[in-house]
Amino acid sequence: MSRVYNFSAGPAALPEEVLKEAAAEMLDYEGTGMSVMEMSHRSKTYDKIIKDAEQDLRDLMGIPDNYKVLFLQGGAHLQFAMVPMNFMKKGTADYIVTGSWAKKAWKEAAKYGKANCIASSEDRNFNYIPDCSDLPVSEDADYVYICQNNTIYGTQFHTLPNTKGKTLVSDVSSCFLAEPIDVEKYGMIYGGVQKNVGPAGVVIAIIREDLITEEVYPGTPTMLQYKTHADSASLYNTPPAYGIYICGKVFKWLKKMGGLEAMKERNEKKAALLYGYLDGSGLFRPTVTDRASRSYMNVDFVTGDKELDAEFVKAAEAAGFSGLKGHRSVGGMRASIYNAVTVEAVEALVQFMKNFEKTHIANGEKSCP
Ligand SMILES: *Cc1c(COP(=O)(O)O)cnc(C)c1O
Repeated sequence: MSRVYNFSAGPAALPEEVLKEAAAEMLDYEGTGMSVMEMSHRSKTYDKIIKDAEQDLRDLMGIPDNYKVLFLQGGAHLQFAMVPMNFMKKGTADYIVTGSWAKKAWKEAAKYGKANCIASSEDRNFNYIPDCSDLPVSEDADYVYICQNNTIYGTQFHTLPNTKGKTLVSDVSSCFLAEPIDVEKYGMIYGGVQKNVGPAGVVIAIIREDLITEEVYPGTPTMLQYKTHADSASLYNTPPAYGIYICGKVFKWLKKMGGLEAMKERNEKKAALLYGYLDGSGLFRPTVTDRASRSYMNVDFVTGDKELDAEFVKAAEAAGFSGLKGHRSVGGMRASIYNAVTVEAVEALVQFMKNFEKTHIANGEKSCP
């Protein structure tokens, strides 16, 4: 068996320890004689799995008691609709559009009320985070919405916007549990887990209790009301049971690794290694030049020559570095360096890039402009 260095944007690398544990428990979970996949979600054994997962997440993030933790389905995309359906009580919301995901969420919200775009970075292909210290937040906005880490463009909010007292809703799909955050600054935090937490199919939503009410957009299906899931502790219907079990294992792994402070340190180290090299390279350059906007999770870079980019991706793949092809809307390369990607993997990538650079500059190919 050989495992590659996995830099995929999502679904993405998971801690090897977690995968091994899950493999060992596959046929017989703790003496039950069955896999977690085969187990009733109403059983005592499963009840402990989901309750422990929630508690470990609460411990890791320091989630206050007046916030609910919900395990949902439908991907981050379904939240683009559920957020406005549940939270646009007065019919207005403000969106900060810093990438494709935020833009999709904004467009979706417009189906349910007045969705204002109060800031955008589309003028420069979303390669920066706009100044959000004094935005024209709407008087009657029910919430202000952000996508905290822009997976495709490699930018990240390192300072939260000034919402002028309005509830902040944040899509943290690609920066979930990457560093400590102050949950109380948000009304809702949500993310699909397949980037940084677990297998695709689970969405975790952390919502302040007072926002969860029966007052929703007319006709909102039962399954799309947060109250339905909050009232039944995420067991209204069959939850994505196996996925939640793996998330629970990842939470335990994070605790063992030293929690989110330790993760932040490790993630900053990985990002510094990669950006440090890119900033000094004669062949590659990072697409996000505004350093304060750079993502610690998704690092986008190009050579400036599409053919050379493709050649690099191919050579990297052959050398055991997987998932480096950039998203089509940016092109070039993207290294996603989520929690489970080791410092060693990033060091190996940087070394590979250095060697590639040396060969290509020696061959007299042009370096980037
Ligand atoms: C991947 C991603 C999405 C889309 O997630 P799905 O689970 O495929 O719906 C939304 N937002 C962000 C920030 C993402 O990284």
